[in-house]
Amino acid sequence: MRRSWTHPGSSSLALCLLVLIGAAGPVLAQVVPDDREPIMKVRIPWPSAGQAAQLRGMADLEPMHIAPGEEIILASDAEQVARLEQLGLRVEILVPDLQAYYIARRSGHRDYGPFYTYAEAVAQLDGLHAQYPAITTEKFSIGTTFEGRTIWAMKVSDNPGIDEAEPEVLFDAAHHAREPMGVSILIETIRRLGEGYGSDPEITYLVDNREIWFVPLLNPDGYVYNQQIAPDGGGMWRKNRRINEGSACRGVDLNRNYPFMWGYSGVSFDPCEDNYLGPEPNSELEVQALMQLCVARQFITHFSYHSVAGTYLVPWSYDVDVKTPDDARFRAFGERLATWNGYAVGQPGEVLGYDCSGTSTDWTYAEQILKPKTFSYGVEVGGSDFWPMDDEVPWLIESNVPANLELIKAADGYPAVVGCRLSGGDGDETPDPGETLSLVVTVENASPFAQMGPTEAIVTSDDAYVSLGSAAVSFLSVAPGRRTSNNQQPFVFTIDPACPAGHTLTLTIMVDLNGYKAVQNRVWSVGDLPEVFTDDVEGGENGWTHAALTLHYADQWHQDIYRNHTTGGTTSWKFGQYASGDYASYSDGALISPSIPVASTCELRFWHWMDAEALQGVSGLAYDGGLIEVSRDGGPWEQATPALGYTHTILDGGGLGPFPEGTPVFSGSFDWREDWIVIQGGAQSLRFRFRFGSDSVVGGEGWYIDDVRLLAMGPQNAPPTAPQLVGPVEGEVLGVPAPTLIVANASDPDPQTLLAYGFRVFRDELLTDPVAAVDGIAEGAGTTSWTLPVWLADGDYYWQAYADDGTERGPCMPRARFEIATGGASVEAPPMARGLHLLGPAPTPAPGWTDLRMRIEVAGVVEGAIYDLQGRRVRSLRMSAQGGEQRLRWDGNDDRGRPVATGLYLYELRTADQRAAGRLMLVR
Ligand SMILES: [Zn+2]
Repeated sequence: MRRSWTHPGSSSLALCLLVLIGAAGPVLAQVVPDDREPIMKVRIPWPSAGQAAQLRGMADLEPMHIAPGEEIILASDAEQVARLEQLGLRVEILVPDLQAYYIARRSGHRDYGPFYTYAEAVAQLDGLHAQYPAITTEKFSIGTTFEGRTIWAMKVSDNPGIDEAEPEVLFDAAHHAREPMGVSILIETIRRLGEGYGSDPEITYLVDNREIWFVPLLNPDGYVYNQQIAPDGGGMWRKNRRINEGSACRGVDLNRNYPFMWGYSGVSFDPCEDNYLGPEPNSELEVQALMQLCVARQFITHFSYHSVAGTYLVPWSYDVDVKTPDDARFRAFGERLATWNGYAVGQPGEVLGYDCSGTSTDWTYAEQILKPKTFSYGVEVGGSDFWPMDDEVPWLIESNVPANLELIKAADGYPAVVGCRLSGGDGDETPDPGETLSLVVTVENASPFAQMGPTEAIVTSDDAYVSLGSAAVSFLSVAPGRRTSNNQQPFVFTIDPACPAGHTLTLTIMVDLNGYKAVQNRVWSVGDLPEVFTDDVEGGENGWTHAALTLHYADQWHQDIYRNHTTGGTTSWKFGQYASGDYASYSDGALISPSIPVASTCELRFWHWMDAEALQGVSGLAYDGGLIEVSRDGGPWEQATPALGYTHTILDGGGLGPFPEGTPVFSGSFDWREDWIVIQGGAQSLRFRFRFGSDSVVGGEGWYIDDVRLLAMGPQNAPPTAPQLVGPVEGEVLGVPAPTLIVANASDPDPQTLLAYGFRVFRDELLTDPVAAVDGIAEGAGTTSWTLPVWLADGDYYWQAYADDGTERGPCMPRARFEIATGGASVEAPPMARGLHLLGPAPTPAPGWTDLRMRIEVAGVVEGAIYDLQGRRVRSLRMSAQGGEQRLRWDGNDDRGRPVATGLYLYELRTADQRAAGRLMLVR
């Protein structure tokens, strides 16, 4: 099948013509290509350890696809195939001549189809700058090639014409001429940044806070040569087009020509080979151009795009046995990138099977004197081929652009909320009505490469049963990849004693870094519901049964001691082989509860641990997984939906699993977690079952179930909606000291319920400093209003309201700010008197007692008063004081000597002519 081209003996005149034509535009002369050896697509079985070691010595191998343990697909010439066969490997030729194959496949397409010619790529840069002039530079030259073409670059940032002190990121593509996907991905990335700027908050933040440099087509000579030999695409030329002295063969492999460890491994010294390293280190103009750009800049992160193995290559390329000091962080971040596309992460010697020296990424990382250290990855775009099918192109772009955004982000520190722990109350880590709880949040600097500057974390909640005691905390700088938490200064909040058990509580945690916001919602179920059924799987089968649900499919449910969730216990239910063994192919087993009598809506709560086959890297799709089904009064089994949803949906891969495509399931891998399902009332008895199904081939450890409980919720209630703001509206200025707050009435999904309303007024926008509060205001006609019973001092206030249907409070409406501006009419209640300065209570939160600290200018009597949130006076205090700093102690008792409950209190201090008020949190 070997096909050869006749050598034209091209003259230098012909070369000049070629350059002129190539530079002039899309009209290309018919070019007679160089002599070439066809490159084949071949398959070899997964090598033995000994063969693998020898493969590593075959420096010029180019893997196109690697399936660990199964096979390797390579792009190889005849001589390489012969060497593979000498190793005893059975070589199967899939495509005898890739270029001919690609050209045939592309014939009938219009020129380059979804790929860009050099001229089209240049036109794209011009078009992008015309469309997004505010955030892109004009294309600019970073150098000129052997054949006289310009190597173009573009910078994307706010104020693109100014060199701002922002972390810098570099993307390049097409070191290798036959790898056009990287060009498309980078042009599309620029477009996404342009489209998202001003509309997508994250992209806007990145453009405003980074300088992002693109060199989308480093090797135009080789790239244009491919256009000449294959005008519709499909050319397999790899190198640049340098004339090699003393050789008839042209070109240098640009990704073997960088000076660091030049010539050490994975190169050929033969100018006729595809991985010819060049006559000397950085001899090539393209390599010099990229190096000069790097030295002139301070790139923190860098992607160099190639094709087609589907990998993130980390340094060192030159020797797999040598690790960089940053090896762990390179790999950890690579795995995070791979969540977008499933690419393999590692050094070339691991994931491609060969070492190679003189690569761009080894040099950009190694060179730390002429420029700062750059964290560089070689990205091998996946897909079927160097020239993938047209319909693969959108997916190859979609699965790489998000990883590019992740790399841009990681050039500077940025926060992620990675942990959240409740303490206090009765210590059970579950919020109960009336409890005051501490919330400790763990924040990670998600960049493994750069320091994260100071951040602020804020907790908010629209839950009408929550009073926030402290809702903001500042974090100092965090080193790359490290964590911090507010365990010295927890957030504090109180659950109203009126909160019904089973109420779903949501807190929102937001960490802000100069406008970059990491937001996470955390959900708890408040209080303890009566248990209808409970099983900790420590006392035998307890009425449970299990069975295969599809004929000839496996049921592997059994009790196992390999994993356990119960404190002090040993056992859980497992689907899968005993202990760590994987589950079987073609399984469909149900673990079925006994029939349980019920009288109301119930909540099924259970702990589970999962390891099942999900589509790697593509969040949300799975082949195998587990789900929950419910039967009411012996009726048909119906799938039930957990409160927080399933994690995946079934992908029909033709693997004959028991669940139809699109079925929601739990899948992938997660550690023990609790989920819950609300089962509506109306039935006399319930059964539920945990059902696990798998298709062929790939497995996992399986599914464990433990600590199953069915809780009675009482009649199911749908809480009312939030009332709507009528006034005062956001920013309204009021000339009266006691404003009237008005809302449009809320609606209640449950019919025939009379609503009541609650109002809250705060001094601070975080809503931790209450000034006035009321519950139980009867609903008015269309609107409901409340006039404050106290006068407010001049200043800014924030208010919100909620509706209560008699069973449960609905959410609070978004807070609105108003300003009291009476011009001194409200001197009755100055917020901070001139001669009396509050210094705050200590300790805080008050552990059953506190000292109210103040500074007074004149000696005399100080009177104090403690109020609850409803404005009722709880306690009166009195002392004689000298001038200066003073403390008035409150023992936490009311006027009749009884300890007051945990919660927020207001206090007031009064001298002969001054008055000031504050608030405190008391914790028992
Ligand atoms: Zn490449």
